[in-house]
Amino acid sequence: MAGTRSSGTRVGTVSDGAPGDAEFGFELVTCRWAERAWPPDSDRETDAVPVVARQLGTRKRRWDTVVVEADPAGLAARAAFGERTLDSDLLHVVRHAPAEWAWYRDALPDPGYPWRYVRAAVHRAADRGVAETRRAGNRIEIRQVAPYPDWVRRIVAVENKPDLSASAARRLGDQLEHDVTTALADEVWVATAATGETVEPALLEDLPVEAGVLVMAFDGDDPEARVAWHPSALDPSADTSLSAAEKATTRLELAERAYGSGWRSYVETMRPDCRWFELRSTSGAFVPWCAAMECHQTAGACAGDCPEFQPEPPSWRTRGWPIEGGPGKGIQRLLARRRRRIREPEE
Ligand code: SF4
Repeated sequence: MAGTRSSGTRVGTVSDGAPGDAEFGFELVTCRWAERAWPPDSDRETDAVPVVARQLGTRKRRWDTVVVEADPAGLAARAAFGERTLDSDLLHVVRHAPAEWAWYRDALPDPGYPWRYVRAAVHRAADRGVAETRRAGNRIEIRQVAPYPDWVRRIVAVENKPDLSASAARRLGDQLEHDVTTALADEVWVATAATGETVEPALLEDLPVEAGVLVMAFDGDDPEARVAWHPSALDPSADTSLSAAEKATTRLELAERAYGSGWRSYVETMRPDCRWFELRSTSGAFVPWCAAMECHQTAGACAGDCPEFQPEPPSWRTRGWPIEGGPGKGIQRLLARRRRRIREPEE
């Protein structure tokens, strides 16, 4: 049923409904909190910069929230390669590109697959400005734009479960057990919403002891996180079901995806161009709000096949339309700006 909404700036402050009502909203608020306040255990002093992303993982396992603890100097140096993710093929090029011009086949290690794919990646790297190329006769030479930095210190996986019921804890238990035995991340956590009660020991029993439990309280603009159970450090450098070398590669690819997408990229899969789409400020994070359904909609519901979708009226697309776009584009720009500010904290 369509509700009422105002045109123009679709960003407000919400007091109606805690973010813990919907897992998606809880996830966004948790991401925002992690960006500001990670790590939760104040005993561990670190100058690491948290790079936060959501819904990242491997083919076998997807995590709700990923926190990459980045070395500050390394993170600043990573900026030389642009804002976008470097995929595995581009990483192969930029990590081995030499400081001086060299034939790419001499400079890059044998990839274990045909060189023509590497050549395509070299051209792509040059198009993206993350490596330089030139022709020397019929050979393509390559040179680095900068050394690719060692910017990833630790990777932390967080499962968000605002309502940690007994059945949710059991389901999570199996997933977290997999994370612990694989040790792809350095640490795994469950984040749950504060209820005013202590976390039941019976619920904790279903979770592996190596997993930390974080209780999030969302009163006011700055959520508070209390550690109900401290996690154990895992060892990604050990061979498990994945070899240490496979894990190192996968971890860097994950970190790159976190860097490129951040956690605000949800807007790219939702419908900010819908007239009912709003962002409401909840516990310090902008959380999507559907004015038609009067709730924090999920990313899945706010998709191309939503029956309530209505395009934003052209009259909202004021100055700059169609080049700049209307409020929907404004929302995308706002989130992109915030994402950039986190990547470049010195600005
Ligand atoms: S597309 Fe999204 S904002 Fe628009 S009506 Fe559907 S859920 Fe609401």
